[in-house]
Amino acid sequence: MKTKLSSEYKAAIAESLSDIRKRMRDANGKGQEVTLLCATKTVPVEVINYATQELGITDIGENRVQELLSKYDELEKENVNVHFIGSLQTNKVKYIIDKVCMIHSVDSLKLAAEIDRQAKKHNKVMDILVEINIGEEENKGGIAPSELEGFLEKLTAFENIRVRGLMTIAPFWCEKSDYQKYFTKTYQFFIDILPKKIHNIYKPVLSMGMSDSFETAIECGSTLVRLGTVVFGRREYK
Ligand SMILES: *Cc1c(COP(=O)(O)O)cnc(C)c1O
Repeated sequence: MKTKLSSEYKAAIAESLSDIRKRMRDANGKGQEVTLLCATKTVPVEVINYATQELGITDIGENRVQELLSKYDELEKENVNVHFIGSLQTNKVKYIIDKVCMIHSVDSLKLAAEIDRQAKKHNKVMDILVEINIGEEENKGGIAPSELEGFLEKLTAFENIRVRGLMTIAPFWCEKSDYQKYFTKTYQFFIDILPKKIHNIYKPVLSMGMSDSFETAIECGSTLVRLGTVVFGRREYK
């Protein structure tokens, strides 16, 4: 079923994006290249296509396999990079391996091995990010900081995986100073540990920062922010 986008809603998204882009520039004292990825969970395909076809959004990310599959055929994909940003079950890798350009959330050898296996089947090399659990929270995905180095080392054995960088989700209750602490720590891993274990990374990616924290993340060296709420509004309409 097609929803007709109201001109008010279109104008609202266009305005939030131009505001976000300005805030991103203002926060970017280091001057690194930063990608704005739209996190599109619960966002209807028509809205996503409007953002990519008319508002210059080049990167979108889904965090549920089922939702990605249900939208996939109707997504405009020319010049659009579709990412997978949520936690991924090993048995679902096969559904997305030919549909996404990057998996942000690799946090176990079992998952890495399955991505490698499926990528090989499709004759491709899959770009991945290693998710780091920087707040060392229980019940949260991501590699513990102390295990990152060893984990990266083991990933070098997989031929059909290309490690492009790191991803993190900061703890939810953060204040700005907490975000600074966690993002600075993640950035240190990004510049110290990652290149030590993975050589010659093509355009290294540091995926960190969401609606509440993207300016702080950019100040701390993020190269990709994942934004949902600030772009599309609160998700309560669904
Ligand atoms: C939903 C989601 C985001 C975006 O969150 P907002 O707070 O709405 O900007 C970013 N990353 C992941 C992994 C998500 O699931």
